Amino acid sequence: MNPMEQLYQEVILDHARQKHGFGLLDPCQGSSFQVNPTCGDEVTFRLNLSDDGATITDYAWDGDGCSISRASLSVMCQLINDDPSVESIEKLSKQFHELMNSRGKVDAEIDELEDANAFVGVAKFPARIKCALLGWAALKDAIIQARATGTNAGETE
Ligand code: ZN
Repeated sequence: MNPMEQLYQEVILDHARQKHGFGLLDPCQGSSFQVNPTCGDEVTFRLNLSDDGATITDYAWDGDGCSISRASLSVMCQLINDDPSVESIEKLSKQFHELMNSRGKVDAEIDELEDANAFVGVAKFPARIKCALLGWAALKDAIIQARATGTNAGETE
């Protein structure tokens, strides 16, 4: 293992332990439960959006899975913390999906992705890519749920 791969592995193991954003958000506007059957990872991601739907105001995730799935959620929450705008996190999601679909061929770090760059090694193992993308799928779905139910609540009467 080269020094970069070793560093990346440490970043993943640290996040798998720290689990940024782990907890319960109740009540919430948007909630998404996602399962990765090939590995057994499960996550429920919950969030609230601002009145205009442009900013994530609260979020939390609950569930259990392998270290890659937990670390990916932790990194994602750190990125939301840095910039809670929905537009920004959707852009990062797109970049992260490109990184994971690169089969490990991306050789330069993408600054905006911060610790998420550590998953470039995971992209070489197709069976583990779903572990890294599970949390991002839950986030995307929770935003859709929140926009459908949350932001216009109370305007019907
Ligand atoms: Zn997994």
